[in-house]
This record gives sequence, structure tokens and C-alpha cells, in this order.
Amino acid sequence: MINPFTDEYFMKKALQEAEMAFDKGEIPVGAIIVVADKVIARTHNLTELLNDVTAHAEMQAITSAANFLGGKYLKDCTLYVTLEPCQMCAGALYWSQITKIVFGARDEQRGFMTMGTKLHPKTTVVSGVMANEAADLMIRFFASKRK
Ligand SMILES: [Zn+2]
Repeated sequence: MINPFTDEYFMKKALQEAEMAFDKGEIPVGAIIVVADKVIARTHNLTELLNDVTAHAEMQAITSAANFLGGKYLKDCTLYVTLEPCQMCAGALYWSQITKIVFGARDEQRGFMTMGTKLHPKTTVVSGVMANEAADLMIRFFASKRK
């Protein structure tokens, strides 16, 4: 039997969140957190609305998932995020001890890989899932801002 709950399946949901951010004039990054194939947090970037540079999608997803689980560690959880996390988010994810991170497009300038930020040794990372769709959204967003 084919498991329908693939990384692409969940990344599509994160992309839907990114599109919601786009429609609000926020940098289009979306994130969801999944445990046992169940979505327990769905968020997007809200830095403009909240006037808060820390309001990245991942930061809110971590808080939301911890509230849902009633514990601060995100054991057995997977974060799906459309863009490579920045070093702030990677740092927060470190503290959460999240089990797995799946991200879409690379952020060559501000991503944690470029910055050399370490994740928790318990965390595994998958990159490049629906990267073109995520990157396309970013390109369209910044093109619309330049008009
Ligand atoms: Zn971030």
C-alpha cells in the first residue's frame, strides 16, 4: 500500500500557508508541524502584521505545537517549512529537539546552512522538497514589491 502522507503531501500544506502570507503582503513563508501524520500546527510569516522581526513561520509553529502537545520538546514531530530556516529559527528548533525538519527552497544568504548554525544532534534534515514552488512564490513576491 502506498502511504499518501509523503513529504510532498505535507509540504503542499506549508505552501498553502505561504500563499496566505503572500496575500497579506508578508514574505511568503509557511510552516506546519506534523506528528503521526497529523497536522498539529499551521502558521505563516507574520513579521509585518505583528511588527516583530521574530514572527517567522517556524517560531510560531514551535510555540503552537508545544501548546498543542502540552510539552516543550517536539519529540516525534516533523516541521515542514517552505524556505530554509534562518539562524534564529534553527536556534529555536535546536531547543525544541525536533525530530525532523523538511524544507523547500534554500536561502543562500540567510539560511542556517550558510550561517553555519548547528541543529540538535537528534534532528534529521531533508531539503529541496517542492523547492521550485517555494522559490517561485518568493520571486513573485519580491517582483510585486518592486513594481
Ligand atoms: Zn527564521
